[in-house]
Amino acid sequence: MGVRRTAVVKIAVSDEQRDALHRTAEQYLYCANRTADYCWSDTSYTECKTNKREVRDALYSELREETDLQAQLVQAAIKRAVEAVKACVERWKKGQRVSQPTFTAETMDYDTRSATFYRNKVSLATVEGRVEPSFVLPADSPTPYERYVLSENYEFRESTLRYDVATDEFYLNLSTRRTDGDDEVSEDTGHPDQTVLGIDLGVNSLAVSSTGTFWQGDDYDHWCREFEKRRGEMQRRGTQAAHKALLRLGKREEAWRKQYIHTVANELVEEALTHDCDVIAFEDLTDIRERLPHAKWHHVWAFRRLLEYVSYKAPEQEVSVEQVEPNHTSQRCSRTDCGFTHENNRHGEHFECQKCGYEVNADYNGAKNIGLRYARKQTHRLRSSPKPGSGDAEVDLRINGGTLNGENHQPIAGD
Ligand SMILES: [Zn+2]
Repeated sequence: MGVRRTAVVKIAVSDEQRDALHRTAEQYLYCANRTADYCWSDTSYTECKTNKREVRDALYSELREETDLQAQLVQAAIKRAVEAVKACVERWKKGQRVSQPTFTAETMDYDTRSATFYRNKVSLATVEGRVEPSFVLPADSPTPYERYVLSENYEFRESTLRYDVATDEFYLNLSTRRTDGDDEVSEDTGHPDQTVLGIDLGVNSLAVSSTGTFWQGDDYDHWCREFEKRRGEMQRRGTQAAHKALLRLGKREEAWRKQYIHTVANELVEEALTHDCDVIAFEDLTDIRERLPHAKWHHVWAFRRLLEYVSYKAPEQEVSVEQVEPNHTSQRCSRTDCGFTHENNRHGEHFECQKCGYEVNADYNGAKNIGLRYARKQTHRLRSSPKPGSGDAEVDLRINGGTLNGENHQPIAGD
Protein backbone atom coordinates (compact mmCIF):
# COMPACT_ATOMS: atom_id res chain seq x y z
CA MET A 1 0.00 0.00 0.00
CA GLY A 2 1.29 3.43 -0.84
CA VAL A 3 1.73 5.96 1.90
CA ARG A 4 1.75 9.42 0.58
CA ARG A 5 2.87 12.52 2.40
CA THR A 6 2.13 15.94 1.10
CA ALA A 7 3.59 19.18 2.29
CA VAL A 8 2.77 22.67 1.17
CA VAL A 9 5.51 25.21 1.70
CA LYS A 10 5.36 28.88 0.89
CA ILE A 11 8.47 30.33 -0.71
CA ALA A 12 9.70 33.90 -0.39
CA VAL A 13 10.39 35.38 -3.82
CA SER A 14 12.05 38.67 -4.73
CA ASP A 15 10.53 40.75 -7.54
CA GLU A 16 13.10 39.39 -9.96
CA GLN A 17 12.47 35.79 -8.96
CA ARG A 18 8.74 36.40 -9.21
CA ASP A 19 9.10 37.66 -12.80
CA ALA A 20 11.32 34.73 -13.71
CA LEU A 21 8.79 32.22 -12.31
CA HIS A 22 5.83 33.86 -14.06
CA ARG A 23 7.70 33.89 -17.38
CA THR A 24 8.69 30.25 -16.88
CA ALA A 25 5.09 29.30 -16.14
CA GLU A 26 3.93 31.12 -19.26
CA GLN A 27 6.27 29.08 -21.46
CA TYR A 28 5.46 25.90 -19.57
CA LEU A 29 1.75 26.42 -20.26
CA TYR A 30 2.58 27.16 -23.88
CA CYS A 31 4.32 23.75 -24.13
CA ALA A 32 1.43 21.94 -22.43
CA ASN A 33 -1.17 23.57 -24.67
CA ARG A 34 0.89 22.97 -27.82
CA THR A 35 1.19 19.30 -26.82
CA ALA A 36 -2.55 19.01 -26.20
CA ASP A 37 -3.17 20.56 -29.65
CA TYR A 38 -0.86 18.03 -31.21
CA CYS A 39 -2.38 15.04 -29.40
CA TRP A 40 -6.02 15.92 -29.64
CA SER A 41 -8.48 15.03 -32.37
CA ASP A 42 -12.14 16.03 -32.31
CA THR A 43 -12.98 13.29 -34.79
CA SER A 44 -12.36 10.14 -32.75
CA TYR A 45 -10.46 9.02 -29.70
CA THR A 46 -8.56 6.54 -31.85
CA GLU A 47 -6.98 9.57 -33.55
CA CYS A 48 -5.76 11.04 -30.26
CA LYS A 49 -2.10 10.49 -29.49
CA THR A 50 -1.46 9.12 -26.02
CA ASN A 51 1.95 7.47 -26.30
CA LYS A 52 4.23 9.63 -24.17
CA ARG A 53 7.44 8.62 -25.89
CA GLU A 54 6.12 9.17 -29.41
CA VAL A 55 4.72 12.55 -28.52
CA ARG A 56 7.95 13.55 -26.83
CA ASP A 57 10.00 12.45 -29.84
CA ALA A 58 7.78 14.49 -32.13
CA LEU A 59 7.65 17.71 -30.10
CA TYR A 60 10.62 17.94 -27.77
CA SER A 61 13.24 19.58 -30.05
CA GLU A 62 10.73 22.03 -31.45
CA LEU A 63 9.56 23.12 -28.02
CA ARG A 64 13.13 23.44 -26.79
CA GLU A 65 13.83 25.77 -29.70
CA GLU A 66 10.67 27.79 -29.28
CA THR A 67 11.14 28.36 -25.54
CA ASP A 68 13.91 29.11 -23.05
CA LEU A 69 12.81 26.26 -20.81
CA GLN A 70 15.22 23.77 -19.31
CA ALA A 71 14.99 20.23 -20.76
CA GLN A 72 13.16 18.62 -17.84
CA LEU A 73 10.49 21.34 -17.71
CA VAL A 74 9.71 20.82 -21.39
CA GLN A 75 9.40 17.09 -20.73
CA ALA A 76 7.21 17.68 -17.68
CA ALA A 77 4.87 19.94 -19.68
CA ILE A 78 4.59 17.33 -22.44
CA LYS A 79 3.95 14.62 -19.87
CA ARG A 80 1.23 16.60 -18.15
CA ALA A 81 -0.57 17.26 -21.43
CA VAL A 82 -0.34 13.65 -22.64
CA GLU A 83 -1.71 12.40 -19.31
CA ALA A 84 -4.62 14.83 -19.53
CA VAL A 85 -5.40 13.71 -23.09
CA LYS A 86 -5.15 10.08 -22.00
CA ALA A 87 -7.65 10.65 -19.17
CA CYS A 88 -10.04 12.29 -21.67
CA VAL A 89 -9.69 9.37 -24.07
CA GLU A 90 -10.59 6.93 -21.28
CA ARG A 91 -13.79 8.85 -20.57
CA TRP A 92 -14.55 9.23 -24.26
CA LYS A 93 -14.31 5.43 -24.67
CA LYS A 94 -17.03 5.13 -22.06
CA GLY A 95 -19.26 7.47 -24.03
CA GLN A 96 -18.79 10.52 -21.83
CA ARG A 97 -18.64 13.98 -23.32
CA VAL A 98 -15.10 15.36 -23.49
CA SER A 99 -13.19 18.24 -25.01
CA GLN A 100 -9.54 19.04 -25.62
CA PRO A 101 -7.73 19.79 -22.35
CA THR A 102 -6.43 23.33 -21.93
CA PHE A 103 -3.95 24.60 -19.35
CA THR A 104 -4.29 28.00 -17.74
CA ALA A 105 -3.32 27.68 -14.06
CA GLU A 106 0.29 28.53 -13.28
CA THR A 107 1.56 25.23 -11.94
CA MET A 108 4.78 23.52 -12.94
CA ASP A 109 6.07 20.06 -12.14
CA TYR A 110 9.62 19.87 -10.89
CA ASP A 111 11.66 16.77 -10.23
CA THR A 112 15.14 16.17 -8.83
CA ARG A 113 16.76 17.41 -12.05
CA SER A 114 14.95 20.73 -12.20
CA ALA A 115 14.72 21.43 -8.46
CA THR A 116 17.38 21.04 -5.78
CA PHE A 117 16.50 21.20 -2.11
CA TYR A 118 18.70 22.79 0.51
CA ARG A 119 18.07 23.17 4.19
CA ASN A 120 16.36 26.55 3.98
CA LYS A 121 15.88 27.15 0.30
CA VAL A 122 15.13 25.48 -2.99
CA SER A 123 16.87 25.97 -6.32
CA LEU A 124 14.43 26.02 -9.24
CA ALA A 125 15.14 26.00 -12.96
CA THR A 126 13.58 28.98 -14.76
CA VAL A 127 13.90 30.68 -18.13
CA GLU A 128 16.33 33.10 -16.44
CA GLY A 129 18.52 30.31 -15.10
CA ARG A 130 18.27 29.00 -11.56
CA VAL A 131 16.54 31.00 -8.84
CA GLU A 132 16.90 30.15 -5.16
CA PRO A 133 13.97 31.35 -3.07
CA SER A 134 13.96 30.47 0.62
CA PHE A 135 11.20 28.67 2.50
CA VAL A 136 8.86 30.68 4.69
CA LEU A 137 9.05 28.80 7.99
CA PRO A 138 9.42 29.55 11.68
CA ALA A 139 13.07 29.30 12.72
CA ASP A 140 12.76 26.27 14.99
CA SER A 141 10.89 23.93 12.67
CA PRO A 142 12.44 21.22 10.51
CA THR A 143 12.75 22.38 6.92
CA PRO A 144 11.10 20.47 4.06
CA TYR A 145 14.58 19.32 3.12
CA GLU A 146 15.05 17.73 6.53
CA ARG A 147 11.54 16.36 6.80
CA TYR A 148 11.08 14.96 3.33
CA VAL A 149 14.13 14.91 1.12
CA LEU A 150 16.45 13.45 3.76
CA SER A 151 13.94 10.92 5.06
CA GLU A 152 15.00 7.33 4.48
CA ASN A 153 11.47 5.97 4.69
CA TYR A 154 9.99 8.20 2.05
CA GLU A 155 11.01 8.55 -1.51
CA PHE A 156 10.98 12.14 -2.66
CA ARG A 157 9.28 12.10 -6.02
CA GLU A 158 8.29 15.45 -7.26
CA SER A 159 7.17 18.89 -6.35
CA THR A 160 4.72 21.17 -7.99
CA LEU A 161 5.19 24.90 -7.96
CA ARG A 162 1.84 26.59 -7.76
CA TYR A 163 1.03 30.26 -8.09
CA ASP A 164 -1.95 31.18 -5.98
CA VAL A 165 -3.81 34.09 -7.57
CA ALA A 166 -5.85 34.81 -4.44
CA THR A 167 -2.85 35.37 -2.16
CA ASP A 168 -0.39 36.39 -4.92
CA GLU A 169 2.11 33.90 -3.50
CA PHE A 170 4.06 30.92 -4.76
CA TYR A 171 3.69 27.60 -3.00
CA LEU A 172 5.67 24.44 -3.40
CA ASN A 173 3.67 21.24 -3.03
CA LEU A 174 5.98 18.40 -2.10
CA SER A 175 4.95 14.85 -2.66
CA THR A 176 6.69 11.83 -1.19
CA ARG A 177 5.66 8.23 -1.21
CA ARG A 178 6.47 5.14 0.80
CA THR A 179 5.66 1.81 -0.79
CA ASP A 180 5.10 -1.46 1.06
CA GLY A 181 4.18 -4.83 -0.41
CA ASP A 182 0.70 -5.33 -1.83
CA ASP A 183 -1.51 -7.56 0.27
CA GLU A 184 -4.69 -7.62 -1.76
CA VAL A 185 -5.67 -10.28 -4.23
CA SER A 186 -7.14 -8.94 -7.42
CA GLU A 187 -10.77 -9.87 -7.90
CA ASP A 188 -11.41 -8.06 -11.15
CA THR A 189 -14.95 -8.59 -12.34
CA GLY A 190 -14.81 -7.25 -15.85
CA HIS A 191 -16.73 -4.17 -16.95
CA PRO A 192 -18.86 -2.65 -14.25
CA ASP A 193 -21.36 0.14 -14.88
CA GLN A 194 -19.62 2.22 -12.26
CA THR A 195 -16.43 1.99 -10.28
CA VAL A 196 -16.24 3.67 -6.90
CA LEU A 197 -13.33 4.95 -4.84
CA GLY A 198 -14.05 4.81 -1.08
CA ILE A 199 -12.51 7.49 1.17
CA ASP A 200 -12.19 7.30 4.95
CA LEU A 201 -11.52 10.57 6.78
CA GLY A 202 -9.94 10.44 10.20
CA VAL A 203 -7.54 11.66 12.83
CA ASN A 204 -4.76 9.07 12.38
CA SER A 205 -4.65 9.72 8.67
CA LEU A 206 -6.44 12.70 7.19
CA ALA A 207 -7.72 10.57 4.30
CA VAL A 208 -7.31 6.96 3.20
CA SER A 209 -8.59 5.58 -0.08
CA SER A 210 -9.87 2.09 -0.85
CA THR A 211 -6.96 1.85 -3.29
CA GLY A 212 -4.64 1.92 -0.28
CA THR A 213 -3.24 5.43 -0.52
CA PHE A 214 -2.80 7.29 2.75
CA TRP A 215 -2.82 11.06 3.07
CA GLN A 216 -1.38 11.18 6.54
CA GLY A 217 -1.79 14.86 7.23
CA ASP A 218 0.87 14.86 9.95
CA ASP A 219 2.28 17.97 8.36
CA TYR A 220 -1.15 19.57 8.57
CA ASP A 221 -1.38 18.69 12.27
CA HIS A 222 2.11 19.97 12.90
CA TRP A 223 1.45 23.37 11.35
CA CYS A 224 -1.93 23.80 12.95
CA ARG A 225 -0.25 23.27 16.34
CA GLU A 226 2.54 25.73 15.44
CA PHE A 227 0.01 28.39 14.45
CA GLU A 228 -1.90 27.79 17.66
CA LYS A 229 1.24 28.21 19.74
CA ARG A 230 2.07 31.50 18.08
CA ARG A 231 -1.50 32.72 18.45
CA GLY A 232 -1.28 31.97 22.16
CA GLU A 233 1.94 33.96 22.51
CA MET A 234 0.46 37.00 20.78
CA GLN A 235 -2.73 36.85 22.82
CA ARG A 236 -0.70 36.87 26.04
CA ARG A 237 1.14 40.00 24.94
CA GLY A 238 -2.20 41.76 24.55
CA THR A 239 -0.86 44.97 22.96
CA GLN A 240 -2.46 46.78 20.01
CA ALA A 241 0.44 45.70 17.77
CA ALA A 242 0.08 42.11 18.91
CA HIS A 243 -3.62 42.28 18.14
CA LYS A 244 -2.91 43.42 14.58
CA ALA A 245 -0.26 40.75 14.15
CA LEU A 246 -2.79 38.21 15.39
CA LEU A 247 -5.26 39.20 12.66
CA ARG A 248 -2.54 38.93 10.04
CA LEU A 249 -1.50 35.54 11.34
CA GLY A 250 -5.11 34.38 11.24
CA LYS A 251 -5.38 35.30 7.56
CA ARG A 252 -2.09 33.64 6.71
CA GLU A 253 -3.06 30.52 8.59
CA GLU A 254 -6.39 30.23 6.85
CA ALA A 255 -4.78 30.71 3.42
CA TRP A 256 -2.25 28.04 4.29
CA ARG A 257 -4.82 25.56 5.54
CA LYS A 258 -6.98 26.07 2.45
CA GLN A 259 -3.98 25.59 0.21
CA TYR A 260 -3.11 22.36 1.97
CA ILE A 261 -6.63 20.94 1.68
CA HIS A 262 -6.82 22.02 -1.98
CA THR A 263 -3.71 19.96 -2.64
CA VAL A 264 -5.12 16.88 -0.95
CA ALA A 265 -8.45 17.38 -2.75
CA ASN A 266 -6.65 17.52 -6.11
CA GLU A 267 -4.78 14.34 -5.26
CA LEU A 268 -7.97 12.52 -4.26
CA VAL A 269 -9.51 13.41 -7.62
CA GLU A 270 -6.29 12.36 -9.33
CA GLU A 271 -6.44 9.04 -7.46
CA ALA A 272 -9.97 8.47 -8.77
CA LEU A 273 -8.86 9.27 -12.34
CA THR A 274 -5.74 7.11 -12.14
CA HIS A 275 -7.85 4.16 -11.06
CA ASP A 276 -10.61 4.88 -13.56
CA CYS A 277 -13.29 5.54 -10.93
CA ASP A 278 -16.59 7.27 -11.74
CA VAL A 279 -17.59 7.95 -8.16
CA ILE A 280 -15.83 9.05 -4.99
CA ALA A 281 -17.70 7.95 -1.86
CA PHE A 282 -17.30 9.69 1.50
CA GLU A 283 -19.13 9.00 4.70
CA ASP A 284 -21.78 11.45 5.76
CA LEU A 285 -20.15 14.10 7.97
CA THR A 286 -23.24 15.30 9.84
CA ASP A 287 -22.39 13.64 13.17
CA ILE A 288 -18.64 13.60 12.70
CA ARG A 289 -17.96 15.33 16.06
CA GLU A 290 -19.86 12.63 17.92
CA ARG A 291 -18.25 9.80 16.01
CA LEU A 292 -14.71 11.15 16.35
CA PRO A 293 -14.53 12.57 19.88
CA HIS A 294 -10.73 12.96 19.59
CA ALA A 295 -10.93 15.13 16.49
CA LYS A 296 -9.75 18.69 17.02
CA TRP A 297 -11.57 21.63 15.42
CA HIS A 298 -8.93 21.81 12.70
CA HIS A 299 -9.59 18.16 11.81
CA VAL A 300 -13.32 18.73 11.49
CA TRP A 301 -12.62 21.89 9.49
CA ALA A 302 -10.33 19.87 7.20
CA PHE A 303 -12.91 17.07 6.67
CA ARG A 304 -15.63 19.53 5.69
CA ARG A 305 -13.36 21.54 3.37
CA LEU A 306 -12.01 18.38 1.77
CA LEU A 307 -15.52 17.15 1.02
CA GLU A 308 -16.45 20.61 -0.26
CA TYR A 309 -13.39 20.98 -2.52
CA VAL A 310 -13.61 17.44 -3.91
CA SER A 311 -17.34 18.00 -4.52
CA TYR A 312 -16.64 20.83 -6.91
CA LYS A 313 -13.33 19.63 -8.38
CA ALA A 314 -14.38 16.03 -9.17
CA PRO A 315 -17.39 16.86 -11.42
CA GLU A 316 -15.05 18.93 -13.63
CA GLN A 317 -13.39 15.59 -14.39
CA GLU A 318 -16.76 13.88 -14.70
CA VAL A 319 -16.37 12.05 -11.41
CA SER A 320 -19.31 12.33 -9.04
CA VAL A 321 -19.15 12.58 -5.27
CA GLU A 322 -21.52 10.66 -3.00
CA GLN A 323 -21.97 10.28 0.73
CA VAL A 324 -23.01 7.12 2.56
CA GLU A 325 -24.34 6.38 6.04
CA PRO A 326 -21.36 6.11 8.37
CA ASN A 327 -22.78 3.44 10.74
CA HIS A 328 -20.20 0.82 11.74
CA THR A 329 -17.89 1.43 8.77
CA SER A 330 -14.95 1.30 11.19
CA GLN A 331 -16.08 -1.84 13.08
CA ARG A 332 -17.10 -3.97 10.16
CA CYS A 333 -14.85 -6.50 8.44
CA SER A 334 -14.40 -5.41 4.82
CA ARG A 335 -13.71 -8.93 3.53
CA THR A 336 -16.55 -9.57 1.10
CA ASP A 337 -17.10 -13.14 2.35
CA CYS A 338 -17.23 -12.03 5.99
CA GLY A 339 -18.67 -8.63 6.91
CA PHE A 340 -18.63 -9.42 10.66
CA THR A 341 -19.27 -6.27 12.68
CA HIS A 342 -18.07 -5.85 16.26
CA GLU A 343 -16.54 -3.05 18.31
CA ASN A 344 -13.69 -5.37 19.37
CA ASN A 345 -12.60 -5.64 15.74
CA ARG A 346 -10.94 -2.28 15.97
CA HIS A 347 -8.10 -1.21 18.24
CA GLY A 348 -6.86 2.25 17.31
CA GLU A 349 -5.15 2.05 13.96
CA HIS A 350 -5.30 -1.74 13.90
CA PHE A 351 -8.20 -3.78 12.59
CA GLU A 352 -8.48 -7.49 13.31
CA CYS A 353 -11.69 -9.33 12.51
CA GLN A 354 -12.76 -11.43 15.53
CA LYS A 355 -14.48 -13.89 13.22
CA CYS A 356 -12.26 -14.45 10.17
CA GLY A 357 -8.97 -13.05 11.47
CA TYR A 358 -8.54 -10.47 8.67
CA GLU A 359 -5.88 -8.01 9.81
CA VAL A 360 -5.42 -4.66 8.15
CA ASN A 361 -4.98 -0.96 8.81
CA ALA A 362 -8.24 0.24 10.40
CA ASP A 363 -8.64 3.33 8.21
CA TYR A 364 -8.05 1.34 5.04
CA ASN A 365 -10.68 -1.15 6.22
CA GLY A 366 -13.03 1.82 6.75
CA ALA A 367 -12.34 3.20 3.25
CA LYS A 368 -13.21 -0.16 1.70
CA ASN A 369 -16.45 -0.35 3.71
CA ILE A 370 -17.49 3.14 2.63
CA GLY A 371 -16.92 2.23 -1.02
CA LEU A 372 -18.66 -1.15 -0.63
CA ARG A 373 -21.65 0.47 1.02
CA TYR A 374 -22.09 2.81 -1.91
CA ALA A 375 -21.50 -0.04 -4.42
CA ARG A 376 -24.15 -2.28 -2.83
CA LYS A 377 -26.81 0.43 -2.56
CA GLN A 378 -26.17 1.54 -6.12
CA THR A 379 -26.19 -1.99 -7.52
CA HIS A 380 -29.58 -2.62 -5.95
CA ARG A 381 -30.88 0.68 -7.22
CA LEU A 382 -29.65 0.05 -10.75
CA ARG A 383 -31.06 -3.47 -10.75
CA SER A 384 -34.50 -2.41 -9.59
CA SER A 385 -34.70 0.46 -12.05
CA PRO A 386 -37.13 -0.14 -14.94
CA LYS A 387 -34.47 0.68 -17.53
CA PRO A 388 -34.17 -2.19 -20.02
CA GLY A 389 -30.97 -4.18 -19.78
CA SER A 390 -30.36 -3.01 -16.24
CA GLY A 391 -30.54 -6.58 -14.96
CA ASP A 392 -26.76 -6.80 -15.25
CA ALA A 393 -26.10 -3.51 -13.54
CA GLU A 394 -22.94 -3.71 -11.50
CA VAL A 395 -20.98 -1.33 -9.34
CA ASP A 396 -17.45 -2.24 -8.39
CA LEU A 397 -15.22 -0.93 -5.65
CA ARG A 398 -11.67 -0.11 -6.63
CA ILE A 399 -9.24 -1.57 -4.10
CA ASN A 400 -5.51 -1.90 -3.85
CA GLY A 401 -4.59 -4.08 -6.83
CA GLY A 402 -8.03 -4.75 -8.31
CA THR A 403 -11.75 -4.40 -7.76
CA LEU A 404 -14.40 -5.93 -5.55
CA ASN A 405 -18.01 -6.36 -6.47
CA GLY A 406 -20.38 -4.94 -3.86
CA GLU A 407 -22.84 -7.77 -4.49
CA ASN A 408 -20.61 -10.41 -2.93
CA HIS A 409 -21.15 -8.77 0.40
CA GLN A 410 -23.13 -10.78 2.92
CA PRO A 411 -25.88 -8.75 4.53
CA ILE A 412 -25.72 -8.17 8.25
CA ALA A 413 -28.23 -6.86 10.72
CA GLY A 414 -28.42 -3.11 11.00
CA ASP A 415 -26.58 -2.48 7.76
ZN1 LIG B 1 -13.93 -10.92 8.92
